[in-house]
Amino acid sequence: MNIAVNTKGSKYHVNEKGYYGKFGGAYIPEMLYPNVEELRTKYMEIMSDPAFQKEFEDLLRDYVGRPSPLYLAKRLSEKYGAQIYLKREDLNHTGAHKINNTIGQILLAQRLGKKRIIAETGAGQHGVATATVCALMGLECIVYMGSVDIQRQAPNVARMKMLGATVVAATSGSQTLKDATNEAIRDWINNPVDTHYIIGSVVGPHPYPDMVARFQSVISEEIRAQLKEKTGSELPDYVVACVGGGSNAAGTFFHFTEDEGVKLVAVEAAGQGVHSGYSAATSQLGKIGVIHASKTLLMQTEDGQIVEPHSISAGLDYPGVGPMHAHLYDTGRGLFLNATDEESLQAAYELCSLEGIIPALESAHALAKLKELDLKPTDVVVVCLSGRGDKDLETYIKNLKK
Ligand SMILES: *Cc1c(COP(=O)(O)O)cnc(C)c1O
Repeated sequence: MNIAVNTKGSKYHVNEKGYYGKFGGAYIPEMLYPNVEELRTKYMEIMSDPAFQKEFEDLLRDYVGRPSPLYLAKRLSEKYGAQIYLKREDLNHTGAHKINNTIGQILLAQRLGKKRIIAETGAGQHGVATATVCALMGLECIVYMGSVDIQRQAPNVARMKMLGATVVAATSGSQTLKDATNEAIRDWINNPVDTHYIIGSVVGPHPYPDMVARFQSVISEEIRAQLKEKTGSELPDYVVACVGGGSNAAGTFFHFTEDEGVKLVAVEAAGQGVHSGYSAATSQLGKIGVIHASKTLLMQTEDGQIVEPHSISAGLDYPGVGPMHAHLYDTGRGLFLNATDEESLQAAYELCSLEGIIPALESAHALAKLKELDLKPTDVVVVCLSGRGDKDLETYIKNLKK
């Protein structure tokens, strides 16, 4: 298990001050300082402990179902003229990569002696993954969710409640994700001693982006071993992943950042088109600013107000991007593409008909850009299939009829 690998000296991982180039840091209110400082000083020590790693590994294997398969998609490969492998995070327990992170953080919370877990959620996917691990460990779970989202995402609200979580409505502002985040932060300030805040992507104040990336790095650790077995080399030509906050992409890229021959391809949601006013393509539209206590690229107005993002996929509907990705974009190490709602729907239907796999709409964004990669028959491409499409069936059915 490589989650505590030493990344000192890397240009692409976090530095000792909590920054990726000019992005990152911890822009927190004074009253949060003790909580964040406790995490910052302890996370690497805990993650380096072999007993911690064994417990994480055992749960990933027996509860989540890892390693997730690396599947050579033959008909898709034929269509795009390359060797295309799918990293099957869709087969994980709860249906996506998010569980890798929540398992890691709940174990960490236990080591810190925390008794109470809080989280925020937009579409409810991270809320479900958090409620799942809280049930598993018998810990109290409070999930903050905008009241608009509570209405839009009723099935996930029901799942969280069934799993024993308390879902608290955030009723301020636009009553969506950023308002839920504010409520969660307020709760954490008021309960600094017994509460751990499980953030669901590589966002938030340092050390969250690095900590979450490390828990998700099992994805690229497995890809290297699986590719070695299947092709004789650990290194593909391309790794491709969709980016909302950026956790599945960070996990997919993590152990390849130093191999400059491996192209890191990040796909953002263009919504109805990058310049349509209904988009979530943060690297293209964002300017440097602070969101969720981190300095990063952020969609904002001239005077710094957050612009409402749009994507057909709830998981990519976020106005920022994690600081690691802002830096990968800034340095040119990552290739940042974007896929529209329509392209992503088509890519999802294509994967169904060619491979018999219904992907999450988020993952379909990554698939939608295969056509733009200028591939050769010898190229090895790994696409992270971050989740399964069950949650998106309503959208798929509605658009099939059109
Ligand atoms: C939440 C989610 C995403 C987006 O989150 P990242 O942190 O960018 O990975 C992507 N795919 C699926 C299936 C999700 O549930």
